Amino acid sequence: MKKIIVQKFGGTSVADTNKIKHVADVIIKEKQNGNDVVVVVSAMGHTTDHLLKLAHEINAAPSERELDMLLSTGECVSMSLLTMALQSKGYDAISYNASQIGIITENVHTKARIVDIKTDKLKKSLEEGKIIVIAGFQGVTPEGEITTLGRGGSDTSAVAIASALGAERCDIYTDVEGVYTTDPRIVPNASKLDEISYEEMLELAHAGANVLHPRSVETAKQYSMPLRVRSTFKYDDKGTLILGVDKMEIYKPVAGVAQDLSQVRVVVCDIPDTPGEAATLFSSLAKENISVDMIIQSYARKVSQTNDIAFTINKEDLEKTEEIVNKVKDKLHAGDVSFDDNIAKISIVGAGMIDRPGIASTMFQTLADAGINIRMISTSEIKISCLINKEDSQKAVKALHKVFNLGCDTIAEVKGTLPDV
Ligand code: ASP
Ligand code: MG
Repeated sequence: MKKIIVQKFGGTSVADTNKIKHVADVIIKEKQNGNDVVVVVSAMGHTTDHLLKLAHEINAAPSERELDMLLSTGECVSMSLLTMALQSKGYDAISYNASQIGIITENVHTKARIVDIKTDKLKKSLEEGKIIVIAGFQGVTPEGEITTLGRGGSDTSAVAIASALGAERCDIYTDVEGVYTTDPRIVPNASKLDEISYEEMLELAHAGANVLHPRSVETAKQYSMPLRVRSTFKYDDKGTLILGVDKMEIYKPVAGVAQDLSQVRVVVCDIPDTPGEAATLFSSLAKENISVDMIIQSYARKVSQTNDIAFTINKEDLEKTEEIVNKVKDKLHAGDVSFDDNIAKISIVGAGMIDRPGIASTMFQTLADAGINIRMISTSEIKISCLINKEDSQKAVKALHKVFNLGCDTIAEVKGTLPDV
């Protein structure tokens, strides 16, 4: 049996018709290697942003069902154009959307999770020698409703399809050459990593490294699906391979530094120190599908018998969170509530920090030496994150990248500009 390679192309790779023709050549090369090829595409360029803008021009609060109906069209455009490009180059190719295949998701709009992928149709088309092009980012509920997987979700479509088909590997083609020790726009001598473990990549993705959709890494880890992040425009470059930590040699305690500027800190003060208060607060958020990242509960004050809970959420969820927190505040008999988006989460990540003391203290000392105040700290086995003021963010990334010795002698090619802080 032939090996199956799943290739995913992001929005910048299919931004215009010339790029789509180039992508067709990349696909054909893989096919000529003797493999079966299944392709997953994102929408062209900034299509998804553009569609969102249109929606909000029409209705300030568009319904999530209609948003999914609208946004899912972006990927349908690129999948059919890419298929036409393959056909014009003499290759037998066919496109499918999620409903046609049966990429089944839960019944949640705008950030659904995939629960099952039917492979009959895909296997049949592969047997017929066809190259398959699939619309990423979208799914369908068992009732036939169209869903989407959340921004950046076509990475997850690709990994889930690769796992369902038992593919050899899933290649994520993008406009960068791989995964870097940090954002080269901040640190020009950031190094490209040849390999990184799922665990580290997952932490980096959650910490704000926008290379891969975090759920794609989770899925790859669950199914031990090797992932390669590589450049659409430099085919010979091997990019970065993401694989199980057991398959790697680890030399350095820290693999990368990431900044996340998309979080908002929420503080709820003076919550009575009795059982069930945190559960009430966070279950109300969970019910609305709001993920919470860092959580800190302060010591209970002796006199008032109350404590404070601070946590962070994604900016996208701010409106919903304000509504919910202001509602449960009264139920909790809590005091003031505040929201602060002038923050950055800076994280260092590395499987090599397990059992190596002194990494956290080096991080804190480095931030202190740079005159940066730490406002919240959270840790996992392989990650330490500090919440700091937004304006200190780049300074922190530079200092940490240096102290953990992550730079190389060459200057990385820089893509795009940094968002304003
Ligand atoms: N087109 C979608 C987005 O822009 C999905 C993706 O690109 O992965 O978020
Ligand atoms: Mg993407």
